[in-house]
Amino acid sequence: MKIVKIDVFPLNLPMKQNFTISGGSVGDRQKGAPHVYIKITAEDGTEGWGESRPSNRWSYETIESVVTTINHYFKQVLLGQNAEDIKNIHKLMNSEIKNGLTIGQPIAKAAIDTALHDLIGKQMRKSIEELWFTKPKDSINLSYLISTRNIEEAVQKARYALENNYQGIDLKIGFDFKKDLELVEAVKAIAPKLFFRVDANQGYTLSKAITVSKGLEKLGVDVFEQPLKANDLLGHAELRRKTSIPIALDESIWTAGDLIQAIRLEACDTAVVKLTKMGGLTGVKMCGEIAKEANLDLLGGGLTESTLGLTASAHIFNYLEINTPVDLNGPMFLEDDPVGEGPTIKDGKVFLNKDLHGIGCLIDHQKLEKYKVE
Ligand SMILES: [Mg+2]
Repeated sequence: MKIVKIDVFPLNLPMKQNFTISGGSVGDRQKGAPHVYIKITAEDGTEGWGESRPSNRWSYETIESVVTTINHYFKQVLLGQNAEDIKNIHKLMNSEIKNGLTIGQPIAKAAIDTALHDLIGKQMRKSIEELWFTKPKDSINLSYLISTRNIEEAVQKARYALENNYQGIDLKIGFDFKKDLELVEAVKAIAPKLFFRVDANQGYTLSKAITVSKGLEKLGVDVFEQPLKANDLLGHAELRRKTSIPIALDESIWTAGDLIQAIRLEACDTAVVKLTKMGGLTGVKMCGEIAKEANLDLLGGGLTESTLGLTASAHIFNYLEINTPVDLNGPMFLEDDPVGEGPTIKDGKVFLNKDLHGIGCLIDHQKLEKYKVE
């Protein structure tokens, strides 16, 4: 089944809430958020859809780089290739855009990988899990993301999470280490029983991270995510020896090779897996399976993908049996997106639509046109 067409749709999706991490704004209500949808068409007419959600505040990829990478580098080698040979597709993409220290342009590659899984699932009339010889679960629990430096606002959001049956809270820190602990304490007091994950997005130096970890131990936080710079595996290993709080790595782990280095250096207790940073479902599956075999815990996350990327992520997280609430928070921030029919997201859960094959999302073409940008 040959790939005959690859369409790229750069989009600006409207946001209902601003979203800021320690690196800066990831999207806001005035400007919206950059997303790229892609459609791959096979020779029998079957279509598969995938999504990229780049943010220059999180990594080096941008809406412009995703579009030019796919249009100028991937299309020329992927058109005419067998859509069912995803392994070969990755080899071709990885030879067109080589790695630096880790995988090159994973967010662009993720859209292609996801679209091919969707296409194969539709062609075979199977869900993503069934392509991997297992049955899909009905739903997955979400954590509620809080990203503000304002304590009042954070407390209000924690109340909202409790009232709306979320099972966990993911609190962004890494701004100012003293104020961060006050923020954690205030939110923890509102929701003492929820799974509690704090994410510094590389915001601390080692000495500050050690101080913060002592505070987090007292407050009873469940996991401390990416306190130090992505390339500082030895720093994370040292922090691990100095705290009882489990340390999770997110921006440090993009590939199975990165994960194996982290395991060798004893740099983490937990690996954060994400569709976009790992170049798609193939990368998440491999990293997730290795982490589980190495007795690490797994956390599921996203980069505020819309419903399409969120649903693809829910399938792989269910496959990996991740039982802590996952941080798939796009619809919390987005006012709207181009998925028409798809999962139901309510009560802090994603309920997958089992009547649809592949990822299980139908695209609303009018909305795709409405949000398209040049
Ligand atoms: Mg993170």
